[in-house]
Amino acid sequence: MQRTDYCGKFNAKDIGKKVIVCGWVHSRRDHGGVIFIDLRDREGLLQIVFQPEKKEIFAQAEKLRSEFVLKISGTVRKRPAGTENPNLPTGEIEVVTDDLEIINQCPGLPFEISDYAETSEETRLKYRYLDLRRPQVQKNFILRHKITEAMRRYLSAEGFLDLETPFLGKSTPEGARDFLVPARLSPGHFFALPQSPQIFKQILMVAGFDKYFQIVKCFRDEDLRADRQLEFTQVDLEMSFAEESDVMADIEGLIAYVFKKVLGKEIKTPFPRMPYHEALLRYGSDKPDTRFGLEIVDFTEQLKNCGFKVFQGAAAAGGVIRGLCISGGEKFSRSEIDGFTAFVGAFGAKGLAWMKITDKGPESNIVKFFSPAELDSVQKKFGSKTGDLLVFLADDAKIVAQGLGALRLKLGKEQNLIDKDKFNFLWVVDFPQFDWDKEDKRWVAMHHPFTSPKEEDLKYLDDENSLSKVRARAYDIVLNGTELGGGSIRIHREEVQEKMFKALKIAKEDAKEKFGFLLEALTFGAPPHGGIALGLDRFCALILGEESIREVITFPKTQKGVDPMSNAPGMVSEKQLKELGLQIKTKVPPPTQGPDPNRISREK
Ligand code: ASP
Repeated sequence: MQRTDYCGKFNAKDIGKKVIVCGWVHSRRDHGGVIFIDLRDREGLLQIVFQPEKKEIFAQAEKLRSEFVLKISGTVRKRPAGTENPNLPTGEIEVVTDDLEIINQCPGLPFEISDYAETSEETRLKYRYLDLRRPQVQKNFILRHKITEAMRRYLSAEGFLDLETPFLGKSTPEGARDFLVPARLSPGHFFALPQSPQIFKQILMVAGFDKYFQIVKCFRDEDLRADRQLEFTQVDLEMSFAEESDVMADIEGLIAYVFKKVLGKEIKTPFPRMPYHEALLRYGSDKPDTRFGLEIVDFTEQLKNCGFKVFQGAAAAGGVIRGLCISGGEKFSRSEIDGFTAFVGAFGAKGLAWMKITDKGPESNIVKFFSPAELDSVQKKFGSKTGDLLVFLADDAKIVAQGLGALRLKLGKEQNLIDKDKFNFLWVVDFPQFDWDKEDKRWVAMHHPFTSPKEEDLKYLDDENSLSKVRARAYDIVLNGTELGGGSIRIHREEVQEKMFKALKIAKEDAKEKFGFLLEALTFGAPPHGGIALGLDRFCALILGEESIREVITFPKTQKGVDPMSNAPGMVSEKQLKELGLQIKTKVPPPTQGPDPNRISREK
């Protein structure tokens, strides 16, 4: 290497040494005839001094601007007393220049690298290579590397083999839209990019590899409303002769190891487990944030015959009556409570009933519909006290869960009930096997169609009317209210897999055409197996306290699904289309590229 070491690696023990360093001009200061620059590389900043006595070098140093690339030879010395910077690892020392080589220049920048001023995401991504130079941004990727490195080490030590699966394959049924790739050599045919390596990893188990893992890209052509990306990374694993508890134990071990090795934090294992129905009942969500209380309380039995028609009617129609006790919520004004009503309305709730607990007891315009005993039992069950606000929804169970679950999260955030330093892991288990798709009016797999039902529920698979009773051998891992990943024990017998397709109304021919190779593989002595996939981007974002996964992806797409740096996706030539036997029928808007308004030209 040309350099002695990275800029950020020098300290007081190097005083007196002659060194060579390379890097970028982070900032430049002129102080009474002496020029200082902070030279930056991946590992940090180093102060470089140019003294006027060395006329030629000094004259060159006067021309230095932000982001010029330099090679400096010099001598490390202690900074004069009073000029040390305790905030920098190199803050005790500086390098006095003997020689300067300007390796490369840099024109005006679209945004400063040295001060982390807010810049629009579009601009940050257009000049991603500059954005990535920012130490705060670079730190995320160095940590991401450490995380995957630790994961690989742990999984390898546990006997998992890192095996690759193809990107050009057939569609896998994860439920999203596929990205299609025209197959030139098979005219009229398409590959699909994998939504996950699901089928291949199962086939690797049939092939006898016993334990597989891969840190792998997956592709889902989804609308990017939420914090999603078209391509994202999964930590994918599968193991043979395994039960739910085996997969869970390996994941707990993996997470604890990564936290210990990368963050120096102890994570308590095993993680708590909560059945799906309990999660919906207590938190209104299958990914509960358990860092704070404010749990949902059920009053259906207690209040189904009360005098309040709305409650009575909802219970009679098979719905539920549930509520939240907001501690100190008496302070909320009428219009703030109206705001809560509008908020839950977005989830389909028709209204929000409420009572304030004053020192004279419960007060609101619905209190008169309840007997003193009912009011008493409500307060007891809530454990409410003077100054609290009780809110209720009475509706279909799904609407109540969604409405109260979301209101709970909103209040948790707004009332600062969440301890941001906590990492609360949780397994959600006992998922239903099927979910009713209202639009398509058919049952769909809640996880995916290869998930095994619980042995004791297999008997319900044959009758369409009992499908809601089937529970899956599926599990999700949740961290602080975010689903980190999910997996299941798989079906390993062909006849069960066929029954599953039948329940999902996937025609035999369709199943054969799409997954015939898996069905066939299962007939050749498939071992029982199961696995899981963790969303790596989300995991890294949560650990780093980043709101968006785009902060931990080197070259993410914008929310519109484009890359402003390369302008992907782009159009292709007629010749390319012809080779593929394709013709574009949609009218394509002209490209919107013009001069870049963000470019600042540097004064000469
Ligand atoms: N392939 C599944 C997914 O991507 C995970 C699994 O079941 O292992 O959601």
